[in-house]
Amino acid sequence: MWFKKKVGIDLGTANTLVYVVNKGIVLNEPTVVAYSQEDHDILAVGEDAREMLGRTPNTIVAARPMRDGVIADYTTTSAMVTYFLRKALNGRILWPEVMISIPGGSSQVEKRAVVAACKQAGASDVYLIEEPLAAAIGAKIPISQPSGHMIVNIGGGTAEIGILSLGQLVVFKTVRIAGTKLDEAIIHHMRKKHNMHVGERTAEEIKMKVGNAHILEPEKYEEIKMEVRGRDTQSGLPKIMEVGEISITEALQKPLKQIIEGIKEVFGESPPELSADIVDKGIVLSGGTALLINLDKFITYYTGVPAYVVDEPLFCVIRGIGMAIENLDSYKKAIR
Ligand code: ADP
Ligand code: MG
Repeated sequence: MWFKKKVGIDLGTANTLVYVVNKGIVLNEPTVVAYSQEDHDILAVGEDAREMLGRTPNTIVAARPMRDGVIADYTTTSAMVTYFLRKALNGRILWPEVMISIPGGSSQVEKRAVVAACKQAGASDVYLIEEPLAAAIGAKIPISQPSGHMIVNIGGGTAEIGILSLGQLVVFKTVRIAGTKLDEAIIHHMRKKHNMHVGERTAEEIKMKVGNAHILEPEKYEEIKMEVRGRDTQSGLPKIMEVGEISITEALQKPLKQIIEGIKEVFGESPPELSADIVDKGIVLSGGTALLINLDKFITYYTGVPAYVVDEPLFCVIRGIGMAIENLDSYKKAIR
């Protein structure tokens, strides 16, 4: 007896993960594509392409095609899906059933492009699942109950804010502020406050090591510091300096408050009964940016609603997709 493989794909703005039923997560690579400038031939995808970021000659472009959470053009998407599927299935793509997440609020055109891209890559059946829904399932929220839940999934390019009830998204909003914008805010801050040019990778490292969303009493706080290498903006020479959490917290406030605005708007559009449920149960945070220290405290401070981070927030969406494809029948109503 030959069974069709069931495969889940989380095509994120920063990272792509693939789940194979009975195996678990088999692939986790950056969503990066390298292609030739002239004829747009795809040269590398994933980890191999990331190595090329910032290091390409003029004839090659290495890019993050899903940067703002918008689905890339059809050709790039299908090349990426083909590459990731082939790698995850060890080269044997035998007409798998594929479930893939799409950003909440995707248009019909975008949805059709993703389905076509998966079919082009060899999928026999394609199921689309909205990312906030996948995140909620992965967070083990009992989504089918008649009760309101808020999930805020903050990745690299977007923060997706959704309220769910009875297995469906009731209110939803995407804010194009997430991890990458935090990195950019750090680059800007380092230049303005410390006269230092740092690159994107360094900025992300600073965020992960001394990033902090919320320090209530900086005078009394014993901050963690790190040594940062960059270039002096005046002399142009290499520069090394110590940077601490308090300075970086300041850098992050503006973009983080834009996420708060998004959360407030979603509450503003929510039926009051559902808002009341969320005040009881709390806001659920997932996605890589949920790992930012004190992000939960920051959100609670500015919304007055308790917030908490799921276990292993980077894997929340792919786990949700995995659970949904393993139990297709019970989720069929929610996916489309
Ligand atoms: P996407 O779903 O958009 O691909 P992910 O959920 O994979 O995004 O999250 C990637 C983002 O999480 C990146 O911007 C990365 O810098 C950020 N991130 C990962 N780990 C941490 C951490 N420890 N602290 C803060 N941000 C983090
Ligand atoms: Mg994601």
